[in-house]
Amino acid sequence: MAEQKLMLAQKKYELPPLPYDPSSLEPHISREQLSLHHDKHHQAYVLGANADLEKLEKARREGAEIDEKAVLKEFSYNIGGHNLHSLFWPNMAPTGEGGGTPGGSLGDLIDREYGSFDRFRMEFSKAASSVEGSGWAALVRCPTTGRPFIMQIEKHNNHIYPDMPIVMVLDMWEHAYYVDYRNNKAQFIDAFWNVVNWDEVNRRLEQLG
Ligand code: MN
Repeated sequence: MAEQKLMLAQKKYELPPLPYDPSSLEPHISREQLSLHHDKHHQAYVLGANADLEKLEKARREGAEIDEKAVLKEFSYNIGGHNLHSLFWPNMAPTGEGGGTPGGSLGDLIDREYGSFDRFRMEFSKAASSVEGSGWAALVRCPTTGRPFIMQIEKHNNHIYPDMPIVMVLDMWEHAYYVDYRNNKAQFIDAFWNVVNWDEVNRRLEQLG
């Protein structure tokens, strides 16, 4: 048997803290809604992703086979959930600090692609409200054309445009808004526009160079 070089106790995923107090998005998103969402739902994806890694590591330690179809599909779902939520929290800012219209390079990019911020807001909101089942709306920038595209993600991992970095996300899972808005998606989307953190979206965009 070949020498075993498997490294035990590799790095795992961790739940990042919210970048603000959980009540700071009120009245748009309540403390109860935000705490549940972060502490329970996001946490579940972190634990799920780590459990998937443990399944892979266990199989390697034991020289056992891996059920790729099950484990890799589940990992895609859990890691998608973790990464999208990690983008979502800083994508919002405390009430009074966010909302309005974007300036800087993001404002220019949006105007060039959509003609106006209002048109962009309408298209993004519609993409969010029409996600089939649970999912997300995301704004990405295509590295080939430099153009911003709206991506509609089902669950956490379906219909992704590969290799297009995400600069903004909106969680449209029921768990994101049900405490505050019941089944009223439109009200939740309006709430998001009141707390969206354009500085962070601009920062992510500029990071892409
Ligand atoms: Mn969520």
